[in-house]
Amino acid sequence: MSKIIDGKLIAQNVKDNLKVKVAEFEKEYGRKITLAVVLVGENPASQVYVKNKIRATEYVGMKSLSFNLPENSTENEVSELIKSLSSDNSVDGILVQLPLPKHLDENKILALIPAEKDVDGFLAENVGNLMLGLPTTVACTPFGVLQMLKSENIDLVGKNAVVIGRSNIVGKPMAMLLLKENCTVTICHSKTQNLKEICKTADVLVAAIGRPKFVTADMVKEGAVVIDVGINRTENGLVGDVDFDAVKDIAGYISPVPGGVGPMTIAMLLENTYICAKRREN
Ligand code: NAD
Repeated sequence: MSKIIDGKLIAQNVKDNLKVKVAEFEKEYGRKITLAVVLVGENPASQVYVKNKIRATEYVGMKSLSFNLPENSTENEVSELIKSLSSDNSVDGILVQLPLPKHLDENKILALIPAEKDVDGFLAENVGNLMLGLPTTVACTPFGVLQMLKSENIDLVGKNAVVIGRSNIVGKPMAMLLLKENCTVTICHSKTQNLKEICKTADVLVAAIGRPKFVTADMVKEGAVVIDVGINRTENGLVGDVDFDAVKDIAGYISPVPGGVGPMTIAMLLENTYICAKRREN
């Protein structure tokens, strides 16, 4: 029977620590840390994410500026808003909620955010800094997974880590963070052969695939740390990428869905906002 990693509790600790640091920042610099959140359109899932992000921002004592542009906004209109937030000295971080409506060029719009306000860690400069081991902001979800592993005092040095998924926002930065922690890292993806055998070698297995219950018990080594990034909406509610009920009897540690990586992502967004604010002041 494995230990269940309580992402909700760890995220709460991150936020409560931040509360103190945010108050100290305000005292030292005489201003509030400010996060601007831009939502274009009315995607219901995005609206929920944005609402939760704003609520969490305010919980830790930061100021949030919320911009909701209509679905049919032109690229120029969205760009103008990003540019004005970029040059606004009181704004520490800019978050553009994805996905954007199809007629907008996501890469072009995100590229307008200055690297020092990139709280999502998506920009080429910050991704490059992560590769080079330079100070940066790291995509919130893999940053959250690392925080979970650290909170559980899991020894990562020399361990075999397998990441399933190679997306720019989860799989690739996750692999890079684990490499930085001295794991031996394998990245698997949709074209990987012998996936089961590779997963079986993992001391740390991170699943970021987007397929319900994809990771089954026969893919997991006894005692492994299994982190489930997946969020899949099914008839039976939210389900992760890992077959939790079967894998929990084999793994040493396992993160649940919901209540695992999800809450960590928001907590690390706030941590990134704090990092950006601190760096801008220094
Ligand atoms: P994505 O679709 O961009 O990437 C999925 C990856 O899975 C791809 O790299 C692909 O190669 C790999 N893959 C697909 N089928 C595979 C197969 N049969 N075998 C091996 N690999 C396969 O998705 P993403 O944005 O990286 O997100 C992955 C999952 O994590 C989704 O369920 C998403 O909802 C979830 N997610 C959760 C959070 C969170 O806060 N918890 C944040 C981001 C994403």
